[in-house]
Amino acid sequence: MPAPSDDTEPRPYDPAHNQPPEAERPDWVPEDASASFATWVIGGVRQSGDFATPSQAAPPRRRPLSIDDYVAGIEKRDTTILARAITLIESSAAAHQAEAQQLLARLLPRTGNSMRVGITGIPGAGKSTLIEALGTHLCERGHRVAVLAVDPSSSIHGGSILGDKVRMEKLSRQPGAFIRPSPSGGSLGGVARKSRETILLCEAAGYDIIIVETVGVGQSEVTVRSMVDCFLLLSIAGAGDEVQGIKKGIMELADIMVVNKADGDNKMRAMAARAELERVLGYLHPATEGWTTPALTASAITGEGIANVWETVLDFFKTCRQTGILDERRREQTIAWMHSLIRESLQNDFYQNPAVRARLAGVEQAVANGQQPSLAAARELLALWKR
Ligand code: GDP
Repeated sequence: MPAPSDDTEPRPYDPAHNQPPEAERPDWVPEDASASFATWVIGGVRQSGDFATPSQAAPPRRRPLSIDDYVAGIEKRDTTILARAITLIESSAAAHQAEAQQLLARLLPRTGNSMRVGITGIPGAGKSTLIEALGTHLCERGHRVAVLAVDPSSSIHGGSILGDKVRMEKLSRQPGAFIRPSPSGGSLGGVARKSRETILLCEAAGYDIIIVETVGVGQSEVTVRSMVDCFLLLSIAGAGDEVQGIKKGIMELADIMVVNKADGDNKMRAMAARAELERVLGYLHPATEGWTTPALTASAITGEGIANVWETVLDFFKTCRQTGILDERRREQTIAWMHSLIRESLQNDFYQNPAVRARLAGVEQAVANGQQPSLAAARELLALWKR
């Protein structure tokens, strides 16, 4: 089954696709040279119609990979193959999904060996700047760091791919770093499934630290919390009440709070904000049993406090391994994940059922007009589905 393709790889030399005719290919150009190979000899200036415009050019073609190819490439830590495997799991085509599940089953024994860290915070708090600083710090110490983003709105505005590339330019130059923008899933559930499976692929490819960032505003905090071991909440010092702007519910999910931008004129305010957060945290139920959520300050720009943030993450892992809560959390997460996959699958099956589809609009109308109670309508549709 062919893998989904994207535009990243040059296509093999192919005279049938707008390349110069065979006779014009110098004999020193290898038979299998890609389209970007050094040069072609083009006989003089041609009529403009002879040249392909990008819109006319044939789509790039790539050799499809077998499951064995994917497994071997991921085991060899080949990032091109890893990226293609992620594209495969992100595909919504049924055939690709079946292949992706086979691939995940093959790789499962190689997964689970990373520290999974989530980072959230309001837009502008400095998440990507901090991830860049922290990721670089870790790569320089020999770690292999994968950075994934979860952005349920990415399919709507479609802007995060470029955004992430530009924002994490320095980190992307580190050989041990792998940065992947958010999948566009249509729904938070779709994005969550793809991100969870991407974590597994990255672990199989030898990344020992996986950072999952929430992008934008929305409900993605709870989703990211459910796929990581340790959850960091980034905030900044604001005017007046420091806890303003951070929803109490989100604070209760955090294992570590970091007040970012503790630099220059802002340093004193950041330190005051940290003290205030620590006071409030004292009243909250900790997110992780046996661990007291600390509040720290850091500057993603100067780097001050970044090493301390990582030391605290390591402390968290040490404590939680000792108490056994880490294993317990992962077990609970995988069971919860299974249930959410069941729900998703049942829901898709229901809404795609031909009898349900044929009747749905009519039932909606009857409910909207008050001619049929919602419960009776739901039961009618469910009965059609189960038939
Ligand atoms: P995100 O939306 O949470 O990912 O935030 P960004 O990482 O894009 O940062 C938002 C803005 O804050 C950018 O202009 C950054 O340069 C700036 N910023 C991020 N971290 C710091 C910091 O530690 N100190 C200062 N002074 N500015 C920062």
